[in-house]
Amino acid sequence: MKTQIIKLSEAGETAYAQAADILKNGGLVAFPTETVYGLGGNALDPEASKKIYGAKGRPSDNPLIVHVADISSVEPLVTELPREAGLLMKAFWPGPLTIILNVSPLVPKETTGGLSTVAIRMPSHPAALALIRAAGLPIAAPSANASGRPSPTRAEHVAEDLSGRIDMILDGGAVGIGVESTIVDLTGEIPLILRPGYITKAMLEQVLGTVKIDPAIARINEGEMISGNEPPKAPGMKYRHYAPRAPLTLVQGTKDAVREKLVSLAKEAREQGLKVGLICEDGTELEDRADAVYYVGNRQNRLELAQRIYDVLRQCDADGLDVIYADDFGLEMDKDLGYAVQNRLMKAAGGRVLRGDGDDGT
Ligand code: AMP
Ligand code: MG
Repeated sequence: MKTQIIKLSEAGETAYAQAADILKNGGLVAFPTETVYGLGGNALDPEASKKIYGAKGRPSDNPLIVHVADISSVEPLVTELPREAGLLMKAFWPGPLTIILNVSPLVPKETTGGLSTVAIRMPSHPAALALIRAAGLPIAAPSANASGRPSPTRAEHVAEDLSGRIDMILDGGAVGIGVESTIVDLTGEIPLILRPGYITKAMLEQVLGTVKIDPAIARINEGEMISGNEPPKAPGMKYRHYAPRAPLTLVQGTKDAVREKLVSLAKEAREQGLKVGLICEDGTELEDRADAVYYVGNRQNRLELAQRIYDVLRQCDADGLDVIYADDFGLEMDKDLGYAVQNRLMKAAGGRVLRGDGDDGT
């Protein structure tokens, strides 16, 4: 299959009609959202969902998020719309919040991974909205990466992973947020965050009152990886998340302590003949200390970290490193967007953490 790549900055409105035709005929179109690029197919067509799993190489019990372009499209997809759902949609849609509700018979099990619930989101990216509206369908869209690779934040990332496997890529440039949507489950007694993202616990609590974070997320952020004994709430959590090919270790501590530790770790590794990569803050000046140095912004600017982290992790793989050490950017203390970034970094690190102040115990 030849994948057609359309630059939205150059294409006219007809691009959406063309992409919508593909979706209506059961094909797959990757498109930008404000979080990451999504791989879209008709959410109501079991064959389209199967194609999504096939193109990504994703296990079929890892459910897809259904994207809509207006709130009224949610009702047919669910058995009931709790008051809390209405409040969240009003406050945060369109935007980077996915809501889990009880699924109606309209949505095939291929889309929900066989669950009794469905994940729904209304993205705010104008291209995503235009595409969903043109198709006139709810669009199932997981991140448009090959399973096991970092989520794509630019169309080039999508092409790298899925060229030849999908019908079309709408190239809308780099995305604005860079980490996947916050997922909140409203099917239990207390709203539960299943994945941290741009919409924080505090933001949700302003609307809903008490909100809890799935304990598995808190444990991941504390450096403990999922054991596999406990059934995870968000099915995606049971799969090994993206980790770079080379082992990545996070280094926590003050800015100076982290720099010192990165320098000494890189020196040690190079003495063993290893090819070392360092992920660090802008201006850390570590060029000559490692084989590859990736600057990811600075610790004050969480949005920039979010926007760039997946790109850098992809670059680490491309550069063929043996070992990677990454600044933790003080994210361990963060309860906001940094919490989401730390979640992704900690997963990439497989829970490996060192302290920059000499105390290596965690
Ligand atoms: P992705 O779009 O690639 O970020 O993947 C979607 C993620 O949404 C999955 O990995 C699941 O963790 C989560 N998800 C989707 N549907 C549900 C659901 N019904 N219940 C809980 N989590 C879900
Ligand atoms: Mg994904």
